[in-house]
Amino acid sequence: MSHSNVVNSGAGDSPRHFVYDFDHDHGVPPMSLKALLGGKGANLAEMTSVLGLPVPHGFTISSAACRAYLRHGWPLALDHEIDDAVARLESRMGRRFGDERDPLLVSVRSGAQFSMPGMMDTVLNLGLNDRSVEALVARTGDPRFAYDSYARFVAMYGRIVLGIDARHFDEHLHRAMGEAGVRTEGELSAATNQDLATRYRDVVLRQCGREFPQEPRTQLREAIEAIFTSWNGARAHAFREREGIDHDLGTAANVQAMVFGNRDDRSGTGVAFTRNPSNGAPEAYGDFMVNAQGEDVVAGTSLTRPLSDLDYLFPDVANQLREVFSRLETHFRDMCDIEFTVEQGRLWMLQTRPGMRTGAAALRMAVDMVNDPAIHLTRHEALSRITGDHLDQVLHPTFAADATFNALTRGLGASPGAAVGRAYFDADSAVRATQRGECVVLVRAETSPDDVAGMLVAQGVVTARGGLVSHAAVVARGWGKPAVVGVSELVVGPHDARVGDTVIAEGDWLSLDGTSGEVVLGQVPLSASDAPAQLEVILRWADEVRAGRLGVRANADTALDARAARERGAEGIGLCRTEHMFLGADRLPVVRAMILASNDDEYRDALEQLLYVQRADFVAILEEMDALPVTVRLLDPPLHEFLPDLEALLVKEAREGLSDDETHLLAAARYWHEQNPMLGVRGVRLGVLKPGLYAMQVRALLEAAHLRLAAGGDPRVEIMIPLTISAPELALARSWVIDAGEYVASNYLTPLRFTIGTMIETPRAALLAHEIAAHADFFSFGTNDLTQMTFGFSRDDVEAKLMAPYLAQGLLEHNPFDVLDDQGVAELVRMGVTRGRSTNPRLKVGICGEHGGDPASIRTLFDCGVDYVSCSPYRIPVARLAAAQAVLAHDTSLKR
Ligand code: PEP
Ligand code: MG
Repeated sequence: MSHSNVVNSGAGDSPRHFVYDFDHDHGVPPMSLKALLGGKGANLAEMTSVLGLPVPHGFTISSAACRAYLRHGWPLALDHEIDDAVARLESRMGRRFGDERDPLLVSVRSGAQFSMPGMMDTVLNLGLNDRSVEALVARTGDPRFAYDSYARFVAMYGRIVLGIDARHFDEHLHRAMGEAGVRTEGELSAATNQDLATRYRDVVLRQCGREFPQEPRTQLREAIEAIFTSWNGARAHAFREREGIDHDLGTAANVQAMVFGNRDDRSGTGVAFTRNPSNGAPEAYGDFMVNAQGEDVVAGTSLTRPLSDLDYLFPDVANQLREVFSRLETHFRDMCDIEFTVEQGRLWMLQTRPGMRTGAAALRMAVDMVNDPAIHLTRHEALSRITGDHLDQVLHPTFAADATFNALTRGLGASPGAAVGRAYFDADSAVRATQRGECVVLVRAETSPDDVAGMLVAQGVVTARGGLVSHAAVVARGWGKPAVVGVSELVVGPHDARVGDTVIAEGDWLSLDGTSGEVVLGQVPLSASDAPAQLEVILRWADEVRAGRLGVRANADTALDARAARERGAEGIGLCRTEHMFLGADRLPVVRAMILASNDDEYRDALEQLLYVQRADFVAILEEMDALPVTVRLLDPPLHEFLPDLEALLVKEAREGLSDDETHLLAAARYWHEQNPMLGVRGVRLGVLKPGLYAMQVRALLEAAHLRLAAGGDPRVEIMIPLTISAPELALARSWVIDAGEYVASNYLTPLRFTIGTMIETPRAALLAHEIAAHADFFSFGTNDLTQMTFGFSRDDVEAKLMAPYLAQGLLEHNPFDVLDDQGVAELVRMGVTRGRSTNPRLKVGICGEHGGDPASIRTLFDCGVDYVSCSPYRIPVARLAAAQAVLAHDTSLKR
């Protein structure tokens, strides 16, 4: 253990103390309180000081202490502050820490600024040792309780603080429960518990080569250090990566006087949500266990009862809890997740925080709370509580209605949505299988934070044990992964699982429905789900916020895509990639004929044929998007994409010779082959090398628009030139479009208006945007190519080898093809927008790379000044919400 005199290090670490009692008068707004004390500490402080709820006394060691510890080792000043805080706690409780007659016992829990369920660890009953356990026997007259508490403490301390594998303790526990013929730990006798405590201490000695520490202050110090250290543990790191939480925040630690749910049958412990976290119904929901300690319920290792059983078990406590729930909701203006303990009939609140919820529950609660006069959430607040993941969940697939299957077994539907994958029984195998390209369902007896990596890659999760508030359920819900938990018939081994006589072997297909709780051996077909009614309300509110500020369009290449996009609220097409119209089985031969044409006539014939098929496609798309803008991008990909693979042709030539047609194709494939095709003859460069190609596409499109006009439609055409690098190049391409437009116009009486713009996909185009904008009515940033060219990362190859090590070593914060690089690429977008508008103030600006469907990127892009984002049809609801959130965040930052 290293020591340091550094008290408060790092920018922003301004507080003068490391340690604060729960009833300390902070006099600061709750946000800064959370940063200082972590979510748990801040809420304990509020429950104690503001709400006056029955919270056992205690104190919080701030996250600044954790940061200082992680940078420089244990701060010397912390020892004094902890000593003082312990002394205050002792005098309030009338008991002394380590006292051999009437010992003070405490719990030590972590609590970071952002809720990280299951990631950090709790140690209960700290302060017990071989002597003070006797004192507890004498004071309570209840040796079962005293030794139960001691045994639990030694095992918990061994696991969490000393890092010993839980199975070393569980072996003894399960054997003892088996021999005694009991189902819960609370039913074990005093003698068995005493024996267990001894065995557990032996485990510690064998596994660590040192005695279990008897000195309570050593126990406390080591427990706090374990919490601080666990901040940098692999599983905490993985969780923060997934949730985008800053790795430098550190965690606070809370030390609280123990109250005992395992005291007797008038005691118990529970976890509850003030509303149903699964569907959002306004009724409290949770699990409770008589004569047990907190972790039993969360771990799902023992039998739990529904919260409603409290009404007849402990009616007074049930009434008091109802009152507490309503006060918590009114105060925090949100659904709260609480842990409570009943000690000999008396209720104690151990913690509260905003509860994790499913997407369906989040939507329902947000709308209900706007309409609830006691909570009176604003619409803007409601919008800020819905995440892209929530929407993903409600838009998740379910088992197809017409699918026939027999459920193998059934558990609790803990996180909605259906999933299909191959069964794997530990996190590492699941990760390896996904790396081989398999879809995976993770099957575990129960999950712990060690399983996070496996859960992350899995399509869905199935556990044999655990309830709706178990680790598996809470984490899966938070991530929008379908999960079925508490499948009691399921027996899970290291390499297979069984339900009765049926064996599920590693790699077998498994399907699960996280709503109904069904688990099926085999692959059940899936279909899209019906979204809850509140989705439309929330999206309407989102649309109101972003109206006139940030539009949402779709990338749609077919009439079917266009319909799907419009149904989801797209306000037009931001990118119609015309190459897809070239790839159909009936069109490819014509495209090849165009490429292979040996004289002008052949070339013109091929173009003419392409014109007809494209025109029909455009008519259908314009019809679906009637009265909304449709941006059609002229042909972009390198021509070799329409030819057979060069290598395959060469192999065939060597092995068996080629036909005449194939010989022609080989010549063309050789001619168009490039070492770096993504930097080669594509985009507008194709138009330069293949005269008449773009004119044909423009004719097809404008003739389609005229056909729509004649049919009484309202086509709004925008023609987009890809991959531009300079003003003269765009001016040339524009002239082709105008010429083709004039030709078409000469055949029709009704005038047709259309605009011409360009994609900004090369860094040079962004840099010269002021010149290019003189020839453009609009820009659309192609952030896929712009990212590729800014980083020099091949968008087709970089993920295979480079991305994972770069992310793991912190060389990249995100995959820049997922989340827009807010330093480099975004700077080019910002510059492109500003420079473009400096010469063309009416320039309309959109973005149509994949980032258009990513909430974090949408926020960045709005700040860069784009007018709309364009994304895949299925991301439209997420983009509508994210666009509104971007507008709200932007406006809030302006007010600061
Ligand atoms: C882009 O580059 O961002 C873009 C939308 O074009 P494509 O992905 O078709 O290259
Ligand atoms: Mg592109």
